[in-house]
Amino acid sequence: MAKMYVDNDGDISFLRDKVVAVLGYGNQGQAWAHNLRDSNVDVVVGNIRDASFDQAVKDGFDASDIGEAAAKADIQLLLMPDEVMPRIFHEEIEPVLKSGQMLVVASGYNVTYGFLTSPTNVDLVMIAPRMIGTGVRRGYLAGSGFPSLIAVHHNASGRAQQVMLALCKAVGTLKQGAVESSCDEETLCDLFNEHFGYVYSLRRAYELLVEAGASPEAAMLEFWASGEEMELARVHMTHGIFHQLKLHSQTSHYGQEVTSRLSDEEEEAERRRLRRIIARIKDGTFARDWSLEQLAGYPVWKRVQAENMAHPLIAEEERLLKKLGLLERDGHGD
Ligand code: NDP
Repeated sequence: MAKMYVDNDGDISFLRDKVVAVLGYGNQGQAWAHNLRDSNVDVVVGNIRDASFDQAVKDGFDASDIGEAAAKADIQLLLMPDEVMPRIFHEEIEPVLKSGQMLVVASGYNVTYGFLTSPTNVDLVMIAPRMIGTGVRRGYLAGSGFPSLIAVHHNASGRAQQVMLALCKAVGTLKQGAVESSCDEETLCDLFNEHFGYVYSLRRAYELLVEAGASPEAAMLEFWASGEEMELARVHMTHGIFHQLKLHSQTSHYGQEVTSRLSDEEEEAERRRLRRIIARIKDGTFARDWSLEQLAGYPVWKRVQAENMAHPLIAEEERLLKKLGLLERDGHGD
């Protein structure tokens, strides 16, 4: 079993007299900045001059450009998008870094693939929430916290573990539990989850149900538009994936446990598909393709996105979500 750290394992006094820079005031950064401030940590915010910057000022933080904020701090939380992190680190943060300071990443990606290499006289740790930013804040306020994968990647000061656990406690993750991990493990699990094929499995189910005579509304309500999935996700978490089947009807339980089980050949084929995905993550093929895609201006992504947005499902979905009063994306809902 992986080691799990809980609230008693963190001692916030390791952050005494330290200034923590939240560099990137976005999904994660906003939640981290508020949680750390509420734990009496001295926080400064660094961000590009945009709406997020204005929000940081409105929220009462000492906000400045990224390099300026980093220069004021002892601990640098790299909470900007992974794609821009190496450049920003190299151009704005590295020049003001001092020996013995600490860098914190919330994702292992750039470390795993060598896009971010830190000086040897600086600590490098990972605190990677298994939670979106709103959940990081909500868990802190509720006192229940949120789970994370954590790792000391480079311990230059000899105190990296204690300072990392102090940060974990202050941001609220030790309330739920932080699991000892590594940048490589976090990257593998995170990318595999994203490459698994979830959205396409939902769309495939929709297409086949409509092909079989179901209305688009019935198909979408069955698979995602009813919100039943939220309740299912909750019982997966609270009961376990097979124990939660007892909460379903007998017909449903039997169908999910027996009928949906793949034959040995189908199972082997599916495992071969998934192992190919893992191999592309582990050998760096995915990271290389994604970097090339960014350099080229996202040609493949733009084409696939246009194809997906032109699918008949999109218009049907918008109609249904509007009728149900659920649509929240840009320009809709509240
Ligand atoms: P965001 O996409 O929310 O961006 C963070 C901030 O960086 C925003 O203020 C954003 O500005 C700013 N920013 C965007 N582009 C640039 C740029 N070119 N130069 C400088 N700043 C820029 O990031 P997240 O919070 O989603 O992710 C931060 C880190 O946390 C990443 O390492 C990510 O992998 C990790 N993480 C994220 C999770 C999540 O749920 N989002 C979960 C767990 C880990 P603007 O708001 O204007 O775009």
